[in-house]
Parts: sequence; structure tokens; C-alpha cells
Amino acid sequence: MSVLITNIGELVTNQPERDADLDPGGAGLVAGRGAADAAREVAGRPAARDAGPAGPARPAGSAGLAGSAGPAAPAGSAGPGPFAAMAGAALVIDEGRVAWTGPASRAPAADQMVDADGRTVLPGFVDSHAHLVFAGERGAEFAARMAGQPYRAGGIRSTVAATRNATDDQLRANLRRLAAEMLAQGITTFECKSGYGLTVTDEARSVSIAAEFTPEVTYLGAHVVPPEFEPNPGGYVDLVCGEMLDACAPHAQWVDVFCEQGAFGRDEAAAVLAAGQAAGLRPRVHANQLTAGPGVQLAVEVGAASADHCSNLTDADVDALACSDTVATLLPGVEFSTRHPYPDGRRLLDAGATVALATDCNPGSCFSSSMPLCIALAVREMHLTTQQAVWAATAGGARALRRADVGHLGTGARADLVMIDAPSHAYFAYRPGVPLIAGVWRAGERVA
Ligand SMILES: [Zn+2]
Repeated sequence: MSVLITNIGELVTNQPERDADLDPGGAGLVAGRGAADAAREVAGRPAARDAGPAGPARPAGSAGLAGSAGPAAPAGSAGPGPFAAMAGAALVIDEGRVAWTGPASRAPAADQMVDADGRTVLPGFVDSHAHLVFAGERGAEFAARMAGQPYRAGGIRSTVAATRNATDDQLRANLRRLAAEMLAQGITTFECKSGYGLTVTDEARSVSIAAEFTPEVTYLGAHVVPPEFEPNPGGYVDLVCGEMLDACAPHAQWVDVFCEQGAFGRDEAAAVLAAGQAAGLRPRVHANQLTAGPGVQLAVEVGAASADHCSNLTDADVDALACSDTVATLLPGVEFSTRHPYPDGRRLLDAGATVALATDCNPGSCFSSSMPLCIALAVREMHLTTQQAVWAATAGGARALRRADVGHLGTGARADLVMIDAPSHAYFAYRPGVPLIAGVWRAGERVA
């Protein structure tokens, strides 16, 4: 059954720049220079930064915005390019996909109609970094941190103890609750990491349970060295690269490592990523969170889809990201929750890097599943424009997961939509903390 959503005040489409770069089946972004170039063009283009009058309308037929070629893009949109938006728009969903977008006045008939009444519609958020398989909570640790105690990587170990003691059903119930919380707030795709089990059995059940809820599962056995391996960290790396990997790889798509002082050094991290890649997993890295360590350079060297955190970057790190296909994923909720300085997202964008925003929802360093909060913080504290922040939370996240079918509303995209009770996307930052989400669709089904 087709659904027409009409009378959309602002429709954010994030039209892909070059359709040739995208896998039409939506199975994943084709790796290659073209896609990365398109992403960089987005991030750096002046039009996306100044929110001034729009550029010329996209030529007819160039990118599947059927029916939209005639009228100029609305004032305030970025015009052609990865952030794209139109006023007075409509969108048709058919068989779970975006079938048509264009001016409401030219909308085709559909089986069902939804009147957006001037509200904004944008792609569902793509959260490319979350740790949702765990038990327990660390509210007291947060309160202590706010009272002046520093955040250290070792705090993860208290969650490890609780997770090991939990039953599968307890872990599953917690993940179900958090996934529902995310969906209600517009996150229609999320990545989920293991990393609180840190035994063969507990990591294997973590990735297995995660796979019940999302196809984007990441094996993070190398989160921290568990207490029992403290005298022998090398032995733990061997386990992560051996028996634990063998048990987890069948349930995961990605391999990740916390490359940081107090967690894993460069050589250990490189060994973990190489072993994961040999087992068919694709790499991503927790990089440069607490110190300007080797994580970003390593991520770029191994062709990681994403280097996450990027909170402490040298000029060489910024250059490396800008000259690579590795997305710089910023996690502003972590800086908020640890009271650490925010990285300058504008510095990355100006250099030409591709930037994504993700929640890093986890019980320790950021227990928030709110992408609108991330957008507001990225605008206020990381110097992104509202357009750049919304792009980073949707299309940027999709790039960080190498997904072509989500993060935009081009024809053929999965019909993952968020409707907000506001006349423009800017309201995420303009009205921070206000519950603006008025509707959520996933694969064409209205779920909130
Ligand atoms: Zn993380």
C-alpha cells in the first residue's frame, strides 16, 4: 500500500551526490574514491555552511528527485549537494521505499495520505556508534564525575562485572528497551557493539543478542583488558584475536578496538583489527578520545569505515582523515557527560573530512540515546551549522556504516523518516531539549 505524506514544510532529502556510487540494492556503499569524494564535497562546500540563498535547482533527472527540477530549491536550503531540502514538498512511500519526492502541488495519488501540516520531514537518524549490550548502570559514577572525579577507561570494568552476572534474557530486555527508546526518538538504524563481556562466552552471547536487534553488529572484545588478564595483557590480545574472534565473527560485521592509554596501544590495536579483517570483519576504531594517540592514523592505515571520538587530533590526524575514506565520527554526548572539551568539528569539515554524529549510548561515558541532543551540542559546541549537523546525524552515520540505503530520502532509499513538529531542521538546535519528534517511519511502517 502506498502512502503520500504531503504538505511538508521542509523536506530534508540529503540527496546522494552521485547515484553511480551507490549500490542500488541498498546493501552497502560501494567502496571507492567516488563515494568519498562526494562525501567530502558535502562537508566542505560553502553552500552547506552559510545557509544563504539556494543555488540552482538540480537538473532534471540528475538524481532521482522526480518532479522537483522545475522550482528552485527553497531559501535556506543548501541547493544541490548532500544536504538538500525543499519547501512545500511531498513524499510517496511504496513497498517500504521512497518512491517519489517533489512539490506537494505535483504529488501523485496514493492509497493513503498523511497531512504533515507544515512540519519538517527528514531521513531517520543513523546512529553508527552505540554500546547497548550491558547490565547495570553507573549513575553514581556520573554523579562523582560531576563532583570532580576524572573519567578513566577502567570504569568500564564495573559494567563488565554486571554484564557477566546477567542472564541472556536480562541483557536482551535491556537492549530491547534501549532500541525502543532510540526508535521513538527517530533513530531508525543503529550499530551495536559487544565489549562488556570480555570472555569468549560473554562476548559471543553479546554479539549474538545484538544481532537479534540490528544487522550492524560490532565485535569489541578489545574494549579494555579485563581484571583477570591484568598481569598478562598480551595474553588477552591473543584471546581477542583467536578463540574469542572465532566465536564472535559469525554474528558480527565489524571489528573495533579502544585504542587509548589504559586500553590498547597501537601494536595491540593493529593486531586486533588485522585478525578481525582476516575473519571477514570490517574495521572501525575508538580513536583519540582521551589523548592524541595513534588511533586515527591506524584507522586510516587499515581503511577503517570510521574513526570514532576524534576528540584530540593533531594537524596530521586531521589531514589523514581528510585524505581518506575514513569517516570522523564525533560523539558530543561523551564530552557533555565527561565534561571534557569538545573537538572542533568545523576544523575537520574545513579540512575536507567527512563527519558523522553518533550517540555512543553506553552506561559509562554517555548514557543518552538522543540524536537531537547530539545535533544541538554539535551546533553549539563543535561549530557545525544546523545543516551539517543534521547531515552528519543521518547521511554521515550511513557513510560511517557504509550504507547506501539509509541516511537520505532519494528515490529507492529505505523509507526511514522522522517528522518533527517544527518548520525546519534548525529547530533541533534552536529548541534543544524539547520533544519535537512527531512521527517515525521505518521501512515505510509508521512506528511512532
Ligand atoms: Zn564507544
